[in-house]
Amino acid sequence: MKIIDTHIHFSGNEHFQQIAEAAGQINSPEFLAKEFSRHNIVKAIAMGTRSSQPGEPGLPQLPDLAGIPGTEGSHHPECIAYCCGVDSFALGCGSVKKSLNDFERHLSSSQCAGIKIYPGYQKFFVNDRIHYPFYELVQHYRKAVVIHTGDTAGGRGLLKYAHPLTVDEVAVEFPEINFVMAHYGNPWIVDATAVAAKNTNVYIELSGLAQGSFEADWFVEHYHGYIEHLKTWITYLSDHEKFLFGSDWPLVGYDSYIELIKRIVPESCWNQVFYANAERIFFA
Ligand SMILES: [Zn+2]
Repeated sequence: MKIIDTHIHFSGNEHFQQIAEAAGQINSPEFLAKEFSRHNIVKAIAMGTRSSQPGEPGLPQLPDLAGIPGTEGSHHPECIAYCCGVDSFALGCGSVKKSLNDFERHLSSSQCAGIKIYPGYQKFFVNDRIHYPFYELVQHYRKAVVIHTGDTAGGRGLLKYAHPLTVDEVAVEFPEINFVMAHYGNPWIVDATAVAAKNTNVYIELSGLAQGSFEADWFVEHYHGYIEHLKTWITYLSDHEKFLFGSDWPLVGYDSYIELIKRIVPESCWNQVFYANAERIFFA
């Protein structure tokens, strides 16, 4: 089975080195390339970061290769597309026009799959008007908007901004854009399901439902109620065109995470969830 991983981090940032170690991963292009070939992962989308360098307000935040051993002076591997991270806070204090020019340069390239918004980490709602000129650009270039939804790592974010219900309004206002709710809005699974069921242009991405180092068997047994809850609402939606595989690598290893998603999604839908939906939504 071919797989597209719609959510990875390809970054030399020290933070990701530590996260990779905690999950038994090696944060290097060689290790990742081996994992891709072992699991037949043919494409991946790396998420841009969310904060600008001081003095560079509102620049698209790209996955950061600096610090990844072996990537000095090189570009993204071709099988890894990317989403430009939006620094909503910097947009609020910088020149939006300049930022739009920079985003347009990326959005017009085939390796850029869309933009990533970080509500919850940044105290802006996804439907804050500051984002609208960026959505118009995304619409023009027929790319996607990926939104962090659900719980935030660390204690400094604010959950109300990351609630999946906030995606409803922007999905209605921009019906031509595909919006992808990262992490299934976890733990607001029911609310995320409702937003995706109502809006034909809203999709659910399945990364971040577990992290660290674990065996799928152990996880399914230990978190039995959680797994059944996920299965219940996936079945309720009854539309496997809505779901996308994402791992959040290097927060997890592929062996355990692919197995975990296979336990949650019915086998008859694996091709759609692991591959075909991503091809249609991000690369068509
Ligand atoms: Zn992530």
